[in-house]
Formats: sequence, structure tokens, C-alpha cells
Amino acid sequence: MTIKIEKNYQIFIVSKDEDAVSTITKVFSDSLYTITLTKTGMEVLSLISYKLPHIILVGTDISDINAFELVSLIKKNSITRYVPCIVFGYNNEIHDRIAAIDAGADGYLPVPFKNEELISLVHAKLIQHDELYLLSVTDDLTGLFTRKEFFRRFSFEIESNIHSCVSIAIIDIDHFKNINDTYGHPVGDIVLIQLANMLKSLQSENYTPARFGGEEFVVICPGIQATEAKKCIDRIRLQFSSINFKTNTPDKTFSVSFSAGISEYPSMGTNLSELLSRADQALYSAKTDGRNRVYAFSPIMSRNDKFWEYIKTNKIIKNIFIDPFLHEAVTGYHYLPVVLENMLSSETSIDAIGVLMIKALPLVDFYQYRGYKNFEYDIENISLLIPKICEIHFPYERYVTIADIYDYEIAILFPFPSSLKTNVSEFTKLCKELVLDISLQSIHHHVEIHYAHGVVPFHKHLARKILQEIKSMKSNFSPLLSLANEAEIISSFWQAIHSKKDISDYIFLLPVYNTDFTRSMSHVISKQLVSAKNFFDIMIKNAIKSQEHYIQFVSSLANIVSANKFHLPIIINWIPSIDLPLQISTLQEVCTKLSLDKIVLAIDEIELNSFIPQYEELSSKNTTPVEFAVSNCYIGSNLLQSLSTIEFSLAILSEHIIRNLHYFKDRIKIINGLRLFCDQINLPLYAPNILKDEEYRIIQDINIAYSSGPYIEQQYALFSSSIKVK
Ligand code: GH3
Ligand code: MG
Ligand code: MG
Repeated sequence: MTIKIEKNYQIFIVSKDEDAVSTITKVFSDSLYTITLTKTGMEVLSLISYKLPHIILVGTDISDINAFELVSLIKKNSITRYVPCIVFGYNNEIHDRIAAIDAGADGYLPVPFKNEELISLVHAKLIQHDELYLLSVTDDLTGLFTRKEFFRRFSFEIESNIHSCVSIAIIDIDHFKNINDTYGHPVGDIVLIQLANMLKSLQSENYTPARFGGEEFVVICPGIQATEAKKCIDRIRLQFSSINFKTNTPDKTFSVSFSAGISEYPSMGTNLSELLSRADQALYSAKTDGRNRVYAFSPIMSRNDKFWEYIKTNKIIKNIFIDPFLHEAVTGYHYLPVVLENMLSSETSIDAIGVLMIKALPLVDFYQYRGYKNFEYDIENISLLIPKICEIHFPYERYVTIADIYDYEIAILFPFPSSLKTNVSEFTKLCKELVLDISLQSIHHHVEIHYAHGVVPFHKHLARKILQEIKSMKSNFSPLLSLANEAEIISSFWQAIHSKKDISDYIFLLPVYNTDFTRSMSHVISKQLVSAKNFFDIMIKNAIKSQEHYIQFVSSLANIVSANKFHLPIIINWIPSIDLPLQISTLQEVCTKLSLDKIVLAIDEIELNSFIPQYEELSSKNTTPVEFAVSNCYIGSNLLQSLSTIEFSLAILSEHIIRNLHYFKDRIKIINGLRLFCDQINLPLYAPNILKDEEYRIIQDINIAYSSGPYIEQQYALFSSSIKVK
């Protein structure tokens, strides 16, 4: 019999008989075979579902389990049932042969072996196996398991409960279409085969790789947590992305990367579809974050409410929260169901819950921007602000709880205790003030704040109804203020001033870094601004559309300043659409009228290119007391260049500078360079809104002239309290 054998066959032997084992090993010593030796039946059972052997040779001498029983177990298992089993025994008697056949064995061989019989039976079974079984469960191109087989094995893994956790990874090659389009389909196939071969190496670690379809692969990692699985897939990612693939053009090579998403059973989902969807959400995040990376799922990656729907309708909710602290990763807030559960178990008798929902929407698609998520950073900052703002509005100990619903919809819950009368109109007013304050504080972030509010009756036995009612408020979201209606607000601002109506609704346009001003507009300006006394900054750029508009606005501003007797430098943004000399002369008039020392015109760093020609035309004329500042600065060569072009009286850093610094390896060098330069030209640096410890430390490295924000304030409070103690 001539046999065409082209591949590497995995032969499993289970026997304690060293002579028999050595005969088999000798006969199949060729490199075409890989032999795995095991001494017990249990060992075989624990290995076969991962390391798919092509054939198993079972000696009747094993003692932990009867050899025939072992065969019958293998043949009953949905995953291993097609693996050929040959029994070998010592009494070539009819009842042993029959027992083997009864158990489902594919053949019986007497020991000592007749080598030719051994070879011919094994070969026959291998070929049969190839044709019948492997063809049905593996993929032609890559030799990996098919999608169908993956599902079968994955469900087995979950249902069998052998491991306390199982992770799965979905791997998707990046821009694979381009490879096909550029180098042709056959080259694309080579890439697929190469990755598949790398994934096959994972089989030795008990992982099961499979081809999920097209250029997508999956790996089942039993007994492994998502963080471990991530490390392992990352290792493959690095290996894979360092391969230089050959093309049809000599000397021209290319490289390819992949992205992957990982989820873990049971902490991230309790069934197959949930786990796949979580892994897919992580993959999607990896793709949108710039590809060539592996992400483990975190709730922030979900884009819909299905998961919470599931929790809500499922009684076994308690153990399936992803985060052990039950809070959302970016905002750090507890999830709504958790918060409600706390309220339900509260001792206080509650009549109703006032709900204020806040949603922050990105104004720009930041995902396109430098490949990282500014938006999440904004959300993080806003979620630091919200509790502080709530505190300011509730100086007394009042029960306020903040929950994260999903997709950055934040719910602030105000339980109304039975001892207090629920006052809906008071609550509505309060919501407006809070949102106004939150909008005001978020003005530097590129988000638009939407809000909705309502009062929900509270009843301990109607938890689900409360949740539903809170969620139904989502249909009422409306913007309080937005860049889109800024122009309209500007003109009503002017009108309001003239008709002496309450102007507090419009004050958001003026993020005022000034205490006195704060007092006069107390209900919208929060305590967080007290640390700054140097200047105030007016964000009006997007609103002013005409010269007339500009003059109107500046004169109404002058009225406020004079009515409140401020003698502070004002920083006002340069408005590119308005004639520069007009802006300067208008501001000069204001200075004279109000006897201000100076007004600073701030030019956004990205607008410098259009500003410089106008500035040069102007330079012969006297601009005092109007001075120039560069604002919204990034640390980089652009800034250094512009600082040497124009004589600025100060530089205001962008909040992005701090963000970008996180991504610069040499940030300390860059900062020092900037500091040296600014020192040399005697230019003060200003930094707005420092929110976090880390940023504070970065900023401390530069001798910042001015900065504000909750973090600075907190440091200041700590500092002053430590003085008191002494
Ligand atoms: P992304 O980074 O977003 O995943 O981009 P992509 O181009 O990899 O994604 P897309 O899903 O658009 O493209 C997948 C491509 O994979 C399209 C299809 O032609 C190709 N493909 C699927 N199966 C095979 C195959 O067996 N061989 C080859 N050569 N190409 C395949
Ligand atoms: Mg794809
Ligand atoms: Mg792809």
C-alpha cells in the first residue's frame, strides 16, 4: 500500500509498557510524526480536546481507567469523537477484540507488535481521519479549526466547567484589504497562513486557535484571565508585526499588524454570544484607537445598553459586574443599578428621587485626532468636576449620589426623604443651576453638555420601575448651551444688559477667573475659581460674526466691568474674522474709558499663521495698552518659532499641552527647553485648569505664572490647613 503523507501527524500513546512504547516510537520516528506519551487515561482525557491528536494508541495495560472505557469516553465526546483510537493488548483473544469494537475503537493490535501491521493500520486510520474528520472541522487554507468547530469547542469549555475562567481573543488583521489590493490575493493568503502557524504554536499552551472567517481568528484560552491572555496575544502580535513579507518585486517587503479584543468568562459574560460581543467591542476599540494593539474588554467599550438590560432582567445579576468595585472605568462612578440597590437598602425613608441626567457629547470626532481618546479624557475631567459642583450647591450634608448609566450619561440622584416636602419647582431650578455650572466649568473641554431632569416616585418594591423611569428620561435630553447657539446668546446678552434683565444665564461665555466677579454672579460661578485672581478670559470667538457685533459685545462687557469696579487685566480672544485694527482700537477705547492698565489680545496658536501678516502690517502703529498673548499653546517647535516672531506679553498653555505631554517620551526635556526659552525672553507662562495630581507635577516643573482648577485648589486647601495645625 502506497501512502501519501504530507503533514505532521500527532500521535498520542497511552501505556505504561516501555517495550511497546519504544517499538511504536521507533516505527514512527520520522519527522512526519510528533509523538506524545502519556501513562494514564485521565491525562489523555485532559489533553485531547486542546491538542487535537490525529490518532490515539491505547494500551490495555493502563490502570487508572479501563482501556475500553477510555475509548468509549473519547468516542462519546462531541469534540474528540472522530479521533481514531487503536487498542493494543496482550491477550489476543476474541473477547478483547470484541470489547474494543464495542467501545468504538478503530482497530485492535496484539502485542508484541508486528511492525508492518502496526504501520499499515495507523496509516489507514490517519488517511481516513484526514478525509473524514479534519476536512470537516478545519479550514483548508490555514489548517486551523473552522468557525463551527470553534463554537463547538467554546461551548464545551464553558459548559464543562473544568476551568474557573476562560478567555477568548478575537484577532483581526489590520488593513488586510490593502494587502490583497496591493500585492495580490496569493500574497494575502501567505499572510493568513503565517499568522495561522503562529497561532498554532499556542496549542502547546492548551489554547485553541481557530479561523473565525476571512482575516479574523479566535483563540480560546482555558483557565486564563483576560489580562494573561492579553499578554500572550500581545507576544504573538509583536512577532507577527516584525515579519517582513516578500512581494513579487525583489527586495521589496512589507509588514502587517493585527488588532485583538479579549473577553473573559464568567466575569465579562456568561454565555457565548455575550462573550463574543464583549471581545468584539474590545476589538473595535483597538481598531479605533489606531490598530496594532490588543485590548481586554472594559465596560467603556460598550456602545449599547444591552448588557445592563441583561443585568436588569436577570436574577443572577450579583456576580456578573465586571469591575470588582462596581464602577465605570473612566468616570469612576458607580453604575446606576448599584446606586439604586444601595438606596433600596437604605434606612432612610425616601418619598421620591430627583434625577438630573447629564450627557457630554464630543464636539469634534477626536478618534480621528492623533489616535487617542481626548473625549474620554474630557469625560474624566468632567466627572471629577461634577461631585465638586454638587458639593458647592449643597454645603450641608445632603444625600446626593452620582451614577454612570452608560455611554457617559451621568445621573445625579437626589433622594427626597419623607421628612422633607418634595418641591418639584425648586428642584427644577436647582437642576438648571447645576447644569449651568457644569457647562461653565466644562467650557475648555470640547464637549457639549445636554441634560434632562425629573422626579421619580420611590417605592422599595418597585425597583425595576424606578430604573425604567430614570432611563425613560433619556428621551428628553436637551442642550443647555452650545457653540451652535452662542451667536444668539451673545446678542441676547447685549439686549439683556440694556434691558437690565437677569444676565446670569449668559455668563457661561465668560469663564471668569476672578473672585470679585464671582461674588456678583454667585449662583453660577463656583468656588473652584477662587484660586485665580489674575485675569479673566473671554471665550467669544465663535459667536462674534460682525464688526457691529464686536463693538456691541465689548461695550456691554465694559459696562459690567465698570459697574463692578474691576481693575484687572482682561484677556480677550482675537477674532480672526474681524479686522485687527478695529479690534485694537475698540479695546484701546475700553482701556481708556475704564482706566485699565491693559487688555491682552490672545491669539490661538493654530491661528498664528493668519495673524502674523496682519500683525506685521500693524507693527508701525502704536497698540498700547493692548498687548498680545499666544494662547491654547502646545509644547513643540511651532510654539518656540512663534515666540521668536512676535513680542508676546504672556503665553497661555492649552489643556491639550498637558494631554499631549502624556504621549511624549521626552516630556521633561521638552518642558525644560520651553522653560529656558521663556525665561530668556522673560515671558510668563499661564496654565489653565489643572485637574490632576500628575498634571500638577508636570506643570510644577515649569514656573507657571498662574493656574487654577480643582487640583490646585485642593493642594492649596491642604497647604493652608497644614499651616493652621502648626
Ligand atoms: P481593518 O483594519 O479595519 O480590519 O481593515 P481590513 O481591510 O482588514 O478589513 P476588511 O474587513 O474590510 O477586509 C477584509 C479583507 O479580507 C477583505 C477580503 O477580501 C479579505 N479576505 C477574506 N478572506 C480572505 C482569504 O482567504 N484570502 C485573502 N487573500 N483575502 C481574504
Ligand atoms: Mg475583518
Ligand atoms: Mg481586518
